[in-house]
Parts: sequence; structure tokens; C-alpha cells
Amino acid sequence: MLLESHLQDTWVAPTAHDPAAVDVRDAVTGETVCRVSSRGLDLAGAFGHARDVGGPALRALTFHQRADLLEALAGAVRARREELYVLSARAGATLNDARYDVDGGIRVLRDYAARARVELPDAPYLVEGPAERLARGEDFLGVHLVTPSPGLMLQVNAFNFPVWAPLEKLAQAVLAGMPSVVKPATPTAYLTERLVRIITDSGALPPGTLQLVAGSVRPALDLLGEQDVLSFTGSAATAETLRTHSNLVARSVRFNAEADSVNAVVLAPDVPPASPLFEAFVREVVTEMTVKAGQKCTAVRRVLVPQKHERAALDAIASQLAEAPIGNPAAEGVRMGPVVSLAQREDVRRAVRAIAASGRFVHGDPDKVRVVDADPERGAFLDTLLISADPDASAPHEVEPFGPAATVLAYRDTAHATALLARGRGSLAASLVGDDVAWTTSFARDAAPWHGRLHLLDSTNMTQTTGHGSPLPALRHGGPGRAGGGSELAGVRGVVELMQRTGVQASRRMMAAFRDQ
Ligand code: NAP
Repeated sequence: MLLESHLQDTWVAPTAHDPAAVDVRDAVTGETVCRVSSRGLDLAGAFGHARDVGGPALRALTFHQRADLLEALAGAVRARREELYVLSARAGATLNDARYDVDGGIRVLRDYAARARVELPDAPYLVEGPAERLARGEDFLGVHLVTPSPGLMLQVNAFNFPVWAPLEKLAQAVLAGMPSVVKPATPTAYLTERLVRIITDSGALPPGTLQLVAGSVRPALDLLGEQDVLSFTGSAATAETLRTHSNLVARSVRFNAEADSVNAVVLAPDVPPASPLFEAFVREVVTEMTVKAGQKCTAVRRVLVPQKHERAALDAIASQLAEAPIGNPAAEGVRMGPVVSLAQREDVRRAVRAIAASGRFVHGDPDKVRVVDADPERGAFLDTLLISADPDASAPHEVEPFGPAATVLAYRDTAHATALLARGRGSLAASLVGDDVAWTTSFARDAAPWHGRLHLLDSTNMTQTTGHGSPLPALRHGGPGRAGGGSELAGVRGVVELMQRTGVQASRRMMAAFRDQ
């Protein structure tokens, strides 16, 4: 079955015979779920439709009316979320994983709707701050006018959040007055397709504001223009290819990249083994390794512990991993499903072997796994893999095993821990676990420039945390360097960043007119 795309407000199939069409398989059983191809699709027509029909419809609305669209969208997805849960199991997701993706996306829509109503005016554009006098007289003032771009957002998404990622980007694009063209990653494109069907069936969005391209969009990169945004999520390697694409460079197409990163958690020297905070640290690591089978861009890959607590940390993490059953996500009691595909499993195996070259597997074997209610070879199953490695080797800081794997690295002293953390060359999130306020805040100041988000866990907030791996609408999602250098979320600031900021110099009466309109 060839997956359809939603272009120009119509569901369309690609050319029937494409020898390059990709078979997408069920992560649990290996059965074919669908075939994906974009051959024969009119992408130029789709982009034109977004710019000519979707954009004007959104730009005619105020921020508050756009917030109403997000609320309607959230209601529509929520009403049919069970369908998405069921389908998510085919990609290897447990019900918990599916909720993370689906309910997480709904929450972002609602959060952005609420923020827009409070923090943005009931107007189609924004006048930033009070006007400033620019000359001696009273009638030459300056402000920044923030207006919607008459372009489109092309979302190129990763496979691991087929629902959350398009919704999270859509929330900001709708508020910014931009239509979206969504290109999901092939291995989970069928989930985003169902999401888009749910949205289009509901009629919650005006025509032209949401289109879907299943399959490659490579030729369409030449169609992007000065007012468009390419919002990319995926590997650092693909980000590099897109960032340097000749059309994007020539036309200064705005490019936001959320790429891979080797995120870390650091256990502070003051946390004794077996203490409640130490147990919270262990839970955090195990959660990061097992939720979505470790296929989260923010997942902890490096676990930095003081040398004196290395043994205790390894034992405690390994013993909790041993209690997490792996198997068919639909089976009772299963805590972790397979990774998304057999190819992804091979990638993870290669990555963990490279890391373990300077150490050993403390828990799990990359080639063997016991599973509940499934065939471990037909499905893309992997054991949870805990590695102990030389902290000064390169691979643990450079290689991202995008699966249920993490590496414990023992640091000698604070300076060593700081230096090791920075060897990830920029990441989305880092957690610091400790109660010593002076140590933690000083460490955090040194670590902050390398991370998009810092999660400081101590005895007072360990029962309230939303967890290391959860991006939140209020805070930046993105990170410097290897993490892509991008920024999403961060409240309404993320919306404003998608719009055009223009410095306006004008008389007092002109300024007043902008505010009154
Ligand atoms: P990927 O291979 O880089 O693919 C990402 C997307 O880019 C897919 O939609 C892919 O389409 C498309 N793509 C690949 N090459 C392209 C090209 N030359 N031109 C246009 N589009 C192209 O990444 P993935 O395997 O899907 O996702 C896993 C990676 O994403 C991990 O490394 C993870 O760390 C990262 N990630 C980062 C974040 C974040 O927020 N920072 C979130 C999730 C995942 P096809 O599938 O059709 O090839």
C-alpha cells in the first residue's frame, strides 16, 4: 500500500510504479506496513498553494484567533488519539511511549494557545516594546514591527516523534501566521499520515495551512525562497547537508536544525550511594535508556559519576535494567519495545561496539536479547546496553547510539567532569544531580554554554521533575554546536523568531496607528 500525501487540500497517491519506493516494516513483526514514495507528486504546486491560500488565511487572523485554531486542533487530535496509540505500537512504542509522543503533542498545542492569549495581542502582528525617540524632536520614533512572513514552513522531521514533532512545530507556525508542509521521516511516516488525516477530517485548520509529503523532498529544497523556513530535526550529518544546500545559502532561507547530541547526566560528588537522591539519579538514567527504547534526541548517553561511586552506580543501574521486560509493546508488563527498524538496530550495534572498544558491557549484549511475545530476529529488538568505558577515550563523547544504550564514565575531579561534559561539543540537555548548592551552581555556569537546557535535580525537586528528557514549551529546545545550533519552543519567543522583525522609524501619529490597527 503506497502511502498518500495531502497536497493542495486533497489526498494524492504517488506514481504507482516507483522502483525506489521504500518498504516500511512493522518494528515488532517485520510485516510490511506501507510503501513510501514521493515520485510524481506536485511539490511546486503544494508550495504555491501554501503561499497563495494557506498563508493569507492565517495572516488575516489575530494571534488570539490563531490560538483558537490550536485549541480546536488539540481537541481534534485528542478525540482520536487511541488510533495513534494503536498505530504507534507498530513502530515499537509501548502505550507509555505513545502517550509521550501523542499526548505530549496535544499538550504543546494547548500550552501555546494559552500563552498566545496572555502574552500576545489580539492583533495579526506585534509592535515590540515602547517607541523610542530617535532624534531631538518628539516626532521621529523607532520600534520593531514583527509581522508574519509570506512564506511557508517546510518541516523535515526525524522518525522518533512522528506526532509530537509536527504538532510542536505546527503550534509555533500557526501562531506565526505561516502555513506548513510536513515531511515525516520514512520509517514512521504512516503515523504522521494518520495524524494529518485526523486533522484534515476535523476541518480545524483553514485550507492550505497544512500539507503532508510522504517520501523524499530533496528536489523541493530548490523551491524554497527568502520568506520560507526549513525546520529540520534529524541527524547531524543530514543537518550539515541541508545547511550547505546551494539554494538555501543563495537565498538566505532560514534554517533551524535540531540535530543529534550526546547528552549527559552528571552525579555530583556529594550524593552518597543508596541515598534517595542517588536512587532518583538511577531512575532517571534507566528511564532515559528505556522510554521509546532510548530513541529520544534528548536521551542520556553519557553518565558521569565520581570515581568513588562508579561501582555503586554501575550496580544500581544494571540491577534496575534487569527488571525492565523487553518485548511486544502490546504484551502485558512489557516496559520497552523494539527500536524502529532492523537498520536502526544495526546502527545502534555499530555505535555501542565503537564505544565499548575502550571498556566493556556491564549489562546487556548487543547481539542477544530475551523478549516477551515476539520473535527477536524478525522484530528490531535490542537489549538495554550499559557500558563502562574509559572517560578519556573519544567514542563515548562522539558516537550517539540512538537506542537503549548509555555509558558510565568515571571522573577524577570537578575539572575533569567539566572537561568531559564539554567533549560532547554541544548538546540538547544535561542533568546535574546534587544537593551541594555551591558546587552545582558553579558547575552549571561552566556547563551552560554547551547545552540548550540544564536540568538540576536535588532532594527538594526530585519528586516533582518532569524528567531529563522532556522538552517543555516554556524552555528552549535546541542546543549549540553538535546539537544543531537551533532553537524551538521557548514560549512565545519561539513564535516571534519565526516572524520578520523590521525596525520602523516614523512619526508619533504613524506609530499610534500601528498600535491601533
Ligand atoms: P535523518 O536520517 O537525519 O533523517 C531526518 C529527516 O531528514 C528525515 O525526514 C529524512 O527523510 C530527511 N532527509 C535525510 N536526508 C535528506 C536530504 N538530503 N534532503 C532532505 N531531507 C533529508 O534522522 P533520523 O534517522 O530520522 O532521526 C534520528 C536522528 O535524529 C538521531 O540522530 C537523533 O538524535 C536526531 N533527533 C534530533 C532531535 C532534536 O530535537 N534535536 C529530535 C529527534 C531526533 P527520509 O526518512 O525520507 O530519508
